Amino acid sequence: MARARRPLIAGNWKMNGLASDSLALVKELAGGLKQAGWTDRELLVCPPATLVRTVADAVKGSGLLVGGQNCHAKASGAHTGDISAEMLKDAGAACVIVGHSERRSDCGETDAVVRAKAEAAWRAGLLPIVCIGETLAEREAGKTLAVLETQLKGSVPDGATAARLVVAYEPVWAIGTGKTPTVAEVAAAHAHIRKVLGGLTAEAAGVRLLYGGSVKGSNAAELLAAGDVDGALVGGASLNAAEFLAIAKAA
Ligand code: PEP
Repeated sequence: MARARRPLIAGNWKMNGLASDSLALVKELAGGLKQAGWTDRELLVCPPATLVRTVADAVKGSGLLVGGQNCHAKASGAHTGDISAEMLKDAGAACVIVGHSERRSDCGETDAVVRAKAEAAWRAGLLPIVCIGETLAEREAGKTLAVLETQLKGSVPDGATAARLVVAYEPVWAIGTGKTPTVAEVAAAHAHIRKVLGGLTAEAAGVRLLYGGSVKGSNAAELLAAGDVDGALVGGASLNAAEFLAIAKAA
C-alpha cells in the first residue's frame, strides 16, 4: 500500500564543517524547527562522518534527523578509511546518501556499487537516499530520461518499499552551479522516475523523490511545487541555517 509522501528536506554538507561551526548551525536549525513546529515535513542534515555522532547527540529530541554522506557496502573489514552503514547507525544516523554524483565521478562508483551501498543501508537499518542524474552532455544529447532509467534500475536493490527508499534526482550540471532545470523539466524527470520505479516496487507511488541541484530559499517554492517532487537535497544552501529553513518552509 502506498503511504502519504511526507516532504523531506535533506542537507548535504559535503566536506564542510568543524565541530564548533557545525554545532552552531544545528542549534539554529533545531531552534527554527521548534519555532515552526513542523510535523508535516522532515528535516535531515548529513554532516561529514567525523561529525555524525557530535551532531546526532546535539540534536537529540529536536526532531532534526542526521545522516551520512556515503557508506561502504561491507559491515566491517579491511577497508582503510571507509565507514560502514552500521558505523553510521551506531553514531546516531538515520539515513545515508548513496551514489551522489561527486562520489560517482570522484570515486568511480558505478550503479552496482551504489546498489550494494543501498543494500548495506537496509542491512544496518538506515534509509538510503539514492542519487541519480544526467550530465550536461547527456542532457544535450537528449538522453536524460534514458540515463535516469538506467541509473535507477542499476542502483535500486530488489525489495524496495516506500518506507525503505528515497530517490534524489540531481542533474550533475545543476549541482553547485546556480543553474537549475525548468520546473517542467524537473516534473518530467520525476514523472519518469516514478514510472520506472513502478517496475521495481509495488509501492512506487509512495516513494519520496527529492530534487537536488542549486536549490536555495529563493527558488525552492517553485521547484518543490513541481509534480512528483517530495522534497529537496540541498548542498551549498544547507550550510546556512536561514537558507535551509527557508527551503524547508517552502516545502
Ligand atoms: C548536492 O550536493 O547534492 C547539491 C544539490 O548541491 P547544491 O545544492 O550546492 O547544488
